[in-house]
Amino acid sequence: VYMFDEVDPSKFSSTEDLKIHFGGKGAGLANMTLLGLPIPYGFTIPCKYSLSYAETNKWPDHLKDQINESIAKLEKKSGYIFGDIEKPLLLSIRSGAPISMPGMMDTVLNLGMSKAIAEKMAEKNARFAWDSWRRFIMSFSDIVKETGREPYDEIMDEFKESRGKKLDIELNADEMKDLGELYLKKFHELLDKDFPEDPWEQLYASINAVFNSWNSERAVAYRKMNKIPNYGTAVNVMRMVFGNLNDKSGTGVLFTRSPMDGEHKVMGEYLINAQGEDVVAGVRTPISMEELKEEQPDIVKQIFELANLLENHYKDMQDCEITVEDGKLFFLQTRTGKRTAGAAVKIAIDMLDDKIIDEETAVLRVAPEKIEELLHKRISPNEKKLPIVRGFNASPGAVTGRAIFDCGRAIEEKRANQRIILVRKETKPEDFPGMIASIGILTSRGGKTCHAAVVARGIGLPAIVGAGELEIDEEKRTASVGGEVKFKEGDLISIDGITGNVYIGEVEVVDPEITGEFSRYLVMCDKYRKLGVRTNADTPQMALDALKNGAEGIGLCRTERMFNAKDRLPKVVDMIVAENLDKREKALDKLLPLQRQDFIDIFKVMDGKPVTVRLLDPPLHEFLPDYKSMVVEFTELRVKGDKGKRFKELEFMLKKYEELKEENAMLGHRGVRLGNTHPEIYKMQVKALIEALIESQKAGVDVHLEIMLPLVSHVNEFIRLKELLKPMAEEMLENADLVPKNPIQWGTMIEIPRAALTAGEIAKEAEFFSFGTNDLTQMTFGFSRDDVEAKFLTKYIDEIYPPIMKDNPFEHIDIEGVGKLIEITVVDGRKARPGIHVGICGEVGGDPHSIQFLHDVGLDYVSCSPFRVPVARVAAAHAAI
Ligand code: ADP
Ligand code: MG
Ligand code: MG
Repeated sequence: VYMFDEVDPSKFSSTEDLKIHFGGKGAGLANMTLLGLPIPYGFTIPCKYSLSYAETNKWPDHLKDQINESIAKLEKKSGYIFGDIEKPLLLSIRSGAPISMPGMMDTVLNLGMSKAIAEKMAEKNARFAWDSWRRFIMSFSDIVKETGREPYDEIMDEFKESRGKKLDIELNADEMKDLGELYLKKFHELLDKDFPEDPWEQLYASINAVFNSWNSERAVAYRKMNKIPNYGTAVNVMRMVFGNLNDKSGTGVLFTRSPMDGEHKVMGEYLINAQGEDVVAGVRTPISMEELKEEQPDIVKQIFELANLLENHYKDMQDCEITVEDGKLFFLQTRTGKRTAGAAVKIAIDMLDDKIIDEETAVLRVAPEKIEELLHKRISPNEKKLPIVRGFNASPGAVTGRAIFDCGRAIEEKRANQRIILVRKETKPEDFPGMIASIGILTSRGGKTCHAAVVARGIGLPAIVGAGELEIDEEKRTASVGGEVKFKEGDLISIDGITGNVYIGEVEVVDPEITGEFSRYLVMCDKYRKLGVRTNADTPQMALDALKNGAEGIGLCRTERMFNAKDRLPKVVDMIVAENLDKREKALDKLLPLQRQDFIDIFKVMDGKPVTVRLLDPPLHEFLPDYKSMVVEFTELRVKGDKGKRFKELEFMLKKYEELKEENAMLGHRGVRLGNTHPEIYKMQVKALIEALIESQKAGVDVHLEIMLPLVSHVNEFIRLKELLKPMAEEMLENADLVPKNPIQWGTMIEIPRAALTAGEIAKEAEFFSFGTNDLTQMTFGFSRDDVEAKFLTKYIDEIYPPIMKDNPFEHIDIEGVGKLIEITVVDGRKARPGIHVGICGEVGGDPHSIQFLHDVGLDYVSCSPFRVPVARVAAAHAAI
């Protein structure tokens, strides 16, 4: 057990280490004491004792002696005596978790009082004495006896009402005394015991209550949710200072800078004649620092000076608690202040400019995860409305629109200039046109990497997926929760893709805060990062968005997205259902000019930057119309006896569908497998690419083309296609008499474990690698990425205890398994082809946790959705520092 001035922070390897021993509050109190701030004297019981108490339910022998000794030191230092009638030492018993757990832990104030002591104190200042007494009864009953404070708050409310008073400060000394009596009676009534008057009994019981609070249900749940280790809590025992002494006293909280926007100005709230917890409990409306300045300018001047001193010591924005006792200021707590992303950026840049921190520290001051906050509209913190359900926050941003339950309607509504939110059980590739006609997506199925989520993030559309409690009836066009219809087609709803919350009606939103400091901060990150940052972009618009966000190239252009456009699907279908090669080639000829134009547009936007184009990847049946609706229509026609043209058409398509259908389409006939059996498709795509390159280069565009073959598992799959496609490309260039300014590169995705394991072989043939971690993760775990999250993965992570898995491997890369395959690939690939460039284009390419690993294994770049590019820039800088 250590007195505040006996703790030597320099003996600890870091502030974190100090906090793990003495808790956050204890560490702060020791540091502030050392800095000479006015701190009420006290001592800290280290965290380890709460752990041993939790196990054995008793104290080690020396603990009681040390606590008693510490109380003696406290008496000597303060001149007050614990339990003494004349000069009573009153204490606060405070918890102190190593990592802040707001509202989870407990504090007892005004400890050491008895009625006799209160009586004696009342001779000097009656109102203060009786106020403190009734507060102590409540605090002890609430925290130590676990009754909660509500029974006492009720008494207080009734009491005030019966006397026609509104606020606690309107109550006089006698009334406070009466309240004390009522509280004592309540205590007896609730616990069938008298209030303990022995201060030592009070003290030991309170320490145990703080120990126990570490394992309270809510604290355990909070730790689990925030992945906080079982450190235990410290207990801080300190002399009370009284904000409720008189009107020259009070209590407050302050931030050394604004936590909302980072403005360099002390901000705070203060309550005159009150004790600390009143601020949180909201018993009265506090006043601001400006208002306090008018009443007590000296105090405010001191507050500013000391806030500044603290900030200079910690070199970061602080969040402090203060109390003023009869015109004398005390600090009771300091910790690093939580802040919005906007504030984090501004504070980092301001502190850099003021030479308080260096550039590297400034970069590290903004968490990459928070960057997204700056790029999307979000729900105003002032919004009072409550959500009806919550799903996975798949893609950030807050929007309000009319709920529409099918894609056709969505497109019509969009034409009529309606802002709509597409509400579906799930989405499929053919829903894409409906999705881009919407301003937001809400689904009841799927996880963070389901189709809806990936597409939404790609095009920067706010989305919530897997809102499982929402029963979506696509037929009736209603959505219910627990059997009750909450909204129907056409109703206004709002979704917040940052929190995953769904609301009925409109909500207040605020704009993204892109400021000058933000772009300065990003440029600073670029200076430190080693990883390149590219984007996954399928359209010129996406490429433009990504460029604005700082993308250095396209790491993945998915050509099938170009097939999905509404006016093209019929042509794609013609190609798929063609009965022979001749017919298929004719159908492909119609698609060629469309693809060529797409490439020309993209090359133009990406002038001078690399563009990796992936040849067709998904299985063909994905492009056919929805199977179920075809069956329904077909059956209806048959029942009617209508065997006309449409019937024949459907009959044919259904037959085709049956032919193409596979039990495990994602492990089936797709990627280079399709390329090898139907080379005419890839030939068309390469033709379109080369024609686009020729035309673009002639128009003065600097094209860096990288052609990527998906789903290679055996090197021969790659060799055969390269031998087929490369000479064709070369011949086309020769005929056009054009030498590409930059040699075309032929590479492959690494997304099948076998490809990773034989990377050395493949690297002899391929000029670059790009990890497709969505498939690689799916195949390494054998997890179907469209199903597992809802079925069992979330249970593995959140419900089963201890958890089977720590994280969702589709969100944060699985370092031990998938990561190992990546490492093998990089090492073997570079051995076979020194300097081969290796990137990643899976979803985790934009995930800060994964980026640290990808930096460490030495990838050349990450490629992510346009809207995640700034996040990746920041994360890559963090990884490099
Ligand atoms: P929390 O972690 O919930 O903020 P604290 O231990 O900081 O709990 O204390 C709760 C309230 O009691 C705070 O407002 C604090 O300012 C006040 N308080 C704590 N210790 C003292 C003390 N020695 N004198 C006066 N007020 C105190
Ligand atoms: Mg608390
Ligand atoms: Mg506090």
